[in-house]
Amino acid sequence: MLEIDGSMLEGGGQLLRISVALSAVTGTPIRVISIRAKRQNPGLRAQHLNAVEAVAKLVNAKTEGLSLGSQEITFNPGPMRARDIEVDVGTAGSTSLILQAIMPGMTFAETPTSIVVKGGTNNPMAPPTDFLEKVLLPTLGKMGIYASLELIRRGFYPRGQGIVKMSVKPATVSPIILTEFGGIGRISGLAYSSRLPQHIAERMVSAAKSSLLRAGYSNVLIDQEMLQPGNPRCAVNPGCGVILVAELSSGGIISGGALGAIGKPAEEVGNEAAYVLVEQLKSHAPVDKHLGDQLVVWMGLAKGSSVIRVSELTLHTLTCIEVVQRLTKARFTVEGERGSSATITCQGIGFQKNVSQAA
Ligand code: ATP
Repeated sequence: MLEIDGSMLEGGGQLLRISVALSAVTGTPIRVISIRAKRQNPGLRAQHLNAVEAVAKLVNAKTEGLSLGSQEITFNPGPMRARDIEVDVGTAGSTSLILQAIMPGMTFAETPTSIVVKGGTNNPMAPPTDFLEKVLLPTLGKMGIYASLELIRRGFYPRGQGIVKMSVKPATVSPIILTEFGGIGRISGLAYSSRLPQHIAERMVSAAKSSLLRAGYSNVLIDQEMLQPGNPRCAVNPGCGVILVAELSSGGIISGGALGAIGKPAEEVGNEAAYVLVEQLKSHAPVDKHLGDQLVVWMGLAKGSSVIRVSELTLHTLTCIEVVQRLTKARFTVEGERGSSATITCQGIGFQKNVSQAA
């Protein structure tokens, strides 16, 4: 059983999710110790527990230590069993992070699989569903991964209860080359709100557009989604946010987003989303810092050599690289410093079922 130290580098939830995801794909039994040791509230929280349980269901894994607060688990995957999975986080915990853990396993299942997850769809410190739809899945599509996502209901803190459905077709993964910035083709976005007056979304849009104009970006199209009770997509408690997306002629997609909060003016939400986007664009790298860490696992599983240039090399990204190298024979090289833009090259293993490719 391979031991993974959950306190290394970033020492957070993502290290656990990637470890379990790769254990499920490669069939390698793992023990993860010191889970989220670098967090103030170490151990499994609802979102992490649900993520591991969902992957365990997918691959019929034998597990130990799966309880709230647990700092050590074992995960022993069985034969892959394609099935439809349902997960209810029970809190506003991020649905996207559960999808992050289970998608690799679903991609290498024998038949199409689907998962319905209930929880938060727009959380701080996690990819909003909108990021998955507009950035992650289109980029993974370039790697031959067929995943579709349906936002059935938005879910915001504190009650969550958002619902997303993801369907994934089996695939082998192609490498990705995203190193050139090219030109900025189009900037678009979405301002979304549930159970709030119409002027909130309008003010978020106008602030985001003005900020982008001041930074030199005109011709920006931001849609508005203003949901009220009675609309099945409307969240069960109020919430709002903005996502902005810049499409590059090189194929890269850069995003910036922000979430509303009680007492935070709508203008601040719009300005913040624009600021994040503009900062990422300044680096002239075609992969933003969040997408960067989320591509690592796929680069490791792809057949052949991938190269990406990220706007910022984060500790999350370095942690993912370390985990992928521990669990597979994939090998990475990184040119650049943490906190700056960097080029990441990976010789992927070209994962195929029934061929031993563990490290
Ligand atoms: P912990 O509670 O231990 O910090 P966690 O399980 O909540 O961990 P992290 O380990 O911090 O989560 O991983 C968060 C993931 O969410 C990373 O993949 C990161 O890139 C992604 N992420 C965070 N914010 C955004 C954002 N605004 N847009 C897209 N992705 C994001």
